Amino acid sequence: MSKVPQPTTKFLKVKCESCNNEQVVFDSAKIVVKCNVCGSDLTEPKGGKAKILGEVLEVLS
Ligand SMILES: [Zn+2]
Repeated sequence: MSKVPQPTTKFLKVKCESCNNEQVVFDSAKIVVKCNVCGSDLTEPKGGKAKILGEVLEVLS
């Protein structure tokens, strides 16, 4: 009966599709997170949750 709410925020390791840079991003980022190497957008804010534009390699809790 007692469902513990899952933490809604996670860190994701995302691979940039443009330059293959691997970068850790916050999955509820409210801003566009850009790749540190080439400046491509890695996340797009979507009402609370970020849409991940690159490839998610790993979920870090
Ligand atoms: Zn990049």
